[in-house]
Amino acid sequence: MKVAFATLGCRVNQYESEAMAEKFIREGYKVVDFNEVADVYVINTCTVTNMGDKKSRQIIGRARRLNETAVIAVVGCYSQVAPKEVSTIEGVDVVLGTRNKGEIVYWVNRAKEERKQIVKVNEVMKNHSFEELNIEEYQDKTRAFLKIQDGCNRFCSYCLIPYARGGVCSKEPKKVLEEINKLSSHGFKEIILSGIHTASYGVDLEGNVTLVDILESIEEIPGIERVRIGSIDPTFFTEDVIDRMSRLKKLCHHFHLSLQSGCDETLKRMNRRYTIEQYESIVNALRETFKDVSITTDIIVGFPGETEKEFESTYEFLNRIKLSKMHVFKFSPRKGTKAAEMKDQVDGNIKEERSNKVIELNRMNEKAFIKKFLDEEVKVLYEQETYEGSNEYEGYTENYIKVISLYKNNGIIGNIVKTKIVSCEEEFALGQIIQ
Ligand code: SF4
Repeated sequence: MKVAFATLGCRVNQYESEAMAEKFIREGYKVVDFNEVADVYVINTCTVTNMGDKKSRQIIGRARRLNETAVIAVVGCYSQVAPKEVSTIEGVDVVLGTRNKGEIVYWVNRAKEERKQIVKVNEVMKNHSFEELNIEEYQDKTRAFLKIQDGCNRFCSYCLIPYARGGVCSKEPKKVLEEINKLSSHGFKEIILSGIHTASYGVDLEGNVTLVDILESIEEIPGIERVRIGSIDPTFFTEDVIDRMSRLKKLCHHFHLSLQSGCDETLKRMNRRYTIEQYESIVNALRETFKDVSITTDIIVGFPGETEKEFESTYEFLNRIKLSKMHVFKFSPRKGTKAAEMKDQVDGNIKEERSNKVIELNRMNEKAFIKKFLDEEVKVLYEQETYEGSNEYEGYTENYIKVISLYKNNGIIGNIVKTKIVSCEEEFALGQIIQ
């Protein structure tokens, strides 16, 4: 029996697809590419933008064309918020919500046996328990994602995630550490702690446990040399948190702090809970504490009501604080959110123009950041050969600069190797291995 996965959206979805794949493997399935003929197709959907819905529908159609008799299971955020809509798409056999992914093999088998559609979508707004969906065997042997938290209580006005994934629920610290120990014994050197709103880790648990407590405990785990935090809310960084983090040896100095806009009025409409002044002082504090820090961000341009003046404030702010990388998104209204109902939606051409302007700024900032490390010695965790037979290997520094270096064989994959940065390109650096 063969199963194929298509995963849309964020890192958490990728993690959950790997965990579901393992469940199928344990039942004797072989995981194949999504373009191959399979007996089961799993589409792990996203609903952050309407694009996610549209793409999900196209993929479902593709799976059906590949094998008319396959079982097609649609899981994740789109099926959670619109189970009826998903169940009416032609050819869908199983519809599971965000908190039912662990039961996937069971429901696929039931649909196969009973030859009828199964829709199993639990209510997420009332369910506050963390669904344990662990990965025992990772394909990639260098960095491991670990989902430690799910859900969000923030309700930003453009986002459907709190409706799709429910409120904050966290994995028990004991289980987090057990899993990291297991990953270490499998040879992983780097762990990426991720979640939907990772900064909220622990708010639902007893004993006031926080993300920093987890980071401190990881210091004691042998074998793990690096810990990276996935995207994190800027308000997480209080003085105390930065102080405690400054003593950690394994923490990667790379923080992805979603800014979204550099204008207070726009931030207010977005229901983000910080001002640009607060954001800037967090960036400054991080830069003072961690000299080599890389701070990356997400920006939404063309949010409803974003005037030329508001966009200019954002641009000036970004030009002043010069972050090392920005992911730029053009606002796309998501049905069911407050932002979709707001008046003064911005014209598509204006969004395009603003997006191009920020992308251009990002090009300059990113290169300037990498250039700071020219001729410096850095440590790179090499992950793979750039292409087969090239003898060029790529990996990341602690502060997330992609480095490509020549080496005689693949013995460096999975190892942290001293490397000198010899040249800087737009999005990566060329390195020379130091023997
Ligand atoms: S913080 Fe805002 S954008 Fe992020 S998941 Fe929560 S509601 Fe969505």
